[in-house]
Amino acid sequence: MDRAREQPRRTLAALLIVLAAIATLGFSAVCAGMMWEMRRSTVDLAQQSLGNLASTIESDISRNIELYDLSLRAVADNLSLPEVASANKSIMHLILFDHAATAKHFGAIQVLDADGNLTHKSTTLDPAPANRVDESYFKVHRDNPNAGLFVSYPMLRGGAYSVVLSRRISGRDGRFLGVVTGSIRFSYFHELFGRLSLGERDTITVFREDGLVIMRTPFDLDIVGRNLNYTPGIKRVLAEPAGSLSSPRSPDGVDRLYVWRGGAGPFVVLVGKPWADILGLWYREVFQIGFIMLGLILFGAAGTLFVVREMKQRAAAEGKLEELAMTDALTGLKNRRMFDSVIDAEWRRALRQHTPLAILMVDADHFKAYNDRFGHQAGDQVLVGIAICISDSARRAEDCAARYGGEEFAVLLPGLSIAEATMLAESIRLKVEQWSGDPATTTVSIGVASMTPVVTMEWSSLVEAADKALYLAKRNGRNQSVAATPAALSLVA
Ligand code: GH3
Ligand code: MG
Ligand code: MG
Repeated sequence: MDRAREQPRRTLAALLIVLAAIATLGFSAVCAGMMWEMRRSTVDLAQQSLGNLASTIESDISRNIELYDLSLRAVADNLSLPEVASANKSIMHLILFDHAATAKHFGAIQVLDADGNLTHKSTTLDPAPANRVDESYFKVHRDNPNAGLFVSYPMLRGGAYSVVLSRRISGRDGRFLGVVTGSIRFSYFHELFGRLSLGERDTITVFREDGLVIMRTPFDLDIVGRNLNYTPGIKRVLAEPAGSLSSPRSPDGVDRLYVWRGGAGPFVVLVGKPWADILGLWYREVFQIGFIMLGLILFGAAGTLFVVREMKQRAAAEGKLEELAMTDALTGLKNRRMFDSVIDAEWRRALRQHTPLAILMVDADHFKAYNDRFGHQAGDQVLVGIAICISDSARRAEDCAARYGGEEFAVLLPGLSIAEATMLAESIRLKVEQWSGDPATTTVSIGVASMTPVVTMEWSSLVEAADKALYLAKRNGRNQSVAATPAALSLVA
């Protein structure tokens, strides 16, 4: 097929593939963008709900501690009054503990004197003697008048874990008079966390302001009571009143999103949820959509390749048809129709470039007789042989050999002078002669013409001149090449 017609098809196929690739990429980019947006809003939502949970827990703890602290303050304030100090035991008990908070998770309020001896207890008039001079909370208040409400590390009290809340009792002059203590049992935290609907691997950690873990769910004695503020993540948790982070790995190796709230009371609440739980649904959707996308892309690619292949096959079939339409079936040379269009183009090119254009008219001698003697099929083989001899001699790309009629061939030789064309004609003639072996059987006569086209002439003049030369060759005895004389050429002109 000629290149000029093949090129647009190739461009079309390439364009189709590029368009399909662009469409696929665009489609994938839109889907990826949507998926990313979905992920972002899923994470935002998780952050919000974990934040709400942490706030709720933090405010519940703060409110209860505030209430309890009011009772501790009342005891500390009353004890600093000299009038109360002089009252008898039961009156004093009434004064000190009348308003004491008595919720079920709060332990008894106790008063220690400046030496750490237990002097009063909200649950009894006669507390058993005890000395708490070595307890950390006692030392804190004794050594620091401004400790305020002190929260102890978790400790076992009466068989259950609890944290001790304490305040210093100071005299009017600021003298250390003792310490008033209360406690919050862990049952409070267990009940509070139990009311929440938590995932199996969710965690809630309650920190004291300095990083000491007061409580954690799931309950873990390895963590509760430890100070974790040496880790950068926890340092941030303690430094900022609210926030979220996802980097620190929990001791159980699960990656979680952590959100914390604090600042209002003495505690910071950190809530963690595994990323796998937060993004589980999203992962499923990504997988499903990705699977569908992959299917669509494969389908699109297969469709595009199919169309491109069809186009190529069609082009090849058309090319073949076209070639068949231009070719002589017996000899494989160009046919007359094709030759006419080639000579037309070459004539005009030669006219433009002022170059000579030569033509050979080759005719088998006594071919009728050959046919009669050896049969039509043998005659056909001779025609094929002559065609091979011609193609063998006219080898340049621009040369064009054609079967012009029954046993007549034409050879167009752009650029050749009459002398060069005659030499080529002779080489064809000799080849046929040698190939056939017996000069009596198959030879060819050749008429040669060459001219540089002028505007006033048609290419048919060139053919006519060669025909005339061929006629001369026949008349002169055949098996020879005859060049058209300049006179003959000007005559046809
Ligand atoms: P001349 O030397 O004057 O050309 O004599 P000739 O017999 O070759 O010329 P003529 O024009 O009298 O006869 C041409 C013969 O060529 C007639 C025909 O049988 C034969 N012929 C034409 N086409 C074919 C073909 O395709 N196959 C075969 N086998 N013979 C063909
Ligand atoms: Mg003939
Ligand atoms: Mg003939």
